[in-house]
Amino acid sequence: MKSLLTTIPCTGKVLEFIVTSPIGDIKISSCQAGLHAVHPCGKDDSTFSADVGHPVLLKTGKQDGSITDCRPANECYMWLKDYFMHKVASTDVPSLCSSVVKKDSFCAKALQQLPEAAPIGKTISYKDLARLCGNEQASRAAGHAMATNPMALLIPCHRVITSAGTPGNYAHGKKNNTKVWLLKFRAGSASEVGVTCTDHQHLFLQYSFTDLFLLNLFFFFFDKHNLDHQITVFLR
Ligand SMILES: [Zn+2]
Repeated sequence: MKSLLTTIPCTGKVLEFIVTSPIGDIKISSCQAGLHAVHPCGKDDSTFSADVGHPVLLKTGKQDGSITDCRPANECYMWLKDYFMHKVASTDVPSLCSSVVKKDSFCAKALQQLPEAAPIGKTISYKDLARLCGNEQASRAAGHAMATNPMALLIPCHRVITSAGTPGNYAHGKKNNTKVWLLKFRAGSASEVGVTCTDHQHLFLQYSFTDLFLLNLFFFFFDKHNLDHQITVFLR
């Protein structure tokens, strides 16, 4: 697995670019060594409405020169084009600048593991992500790592959901409408790219989130200690 963090020291000067997308403008911040941040621009998404089919185009750059002059930012731009326009997403994401996340920290492990643990069309629970990072009890730490994810979409924190199969919070609960849309967007493309799905993914493919909520409510009262098993049995 390629290391997420670049070994090249931070070059200091951070360039910023804004690109358009179906979920609104996205800001890419990057030095020449690696990405510093990739985030949707809005502070919350209470009035969120996806513009399906809106192209990913460069909107502004806050400095002289083209985005092609900054390799990590340009790789991110190309990745976003593939993600939104062609519904494919490489798990090999552009490098993250080593100044952004402490090497060998739990957070770094979680960010490193996630693209391959939850590729296109799949989800993972906070608990299972914590287990992958070596500490099954660290669900809250996994949640914190996702809430502070420096590279939205590329590191797919929107695919991390609760053990009960509900979406959970996105960006401290301020962009949950975006999270739900992204989950549906990816799930809808799963069959097109031949992804094998877990039972939870079949839930996302076959039912709306209202259906999912009611289903979970039913199982919560029916057997709240054995939810995953019950869902699996239900799907069979
Ligand atoms: Zn840097």
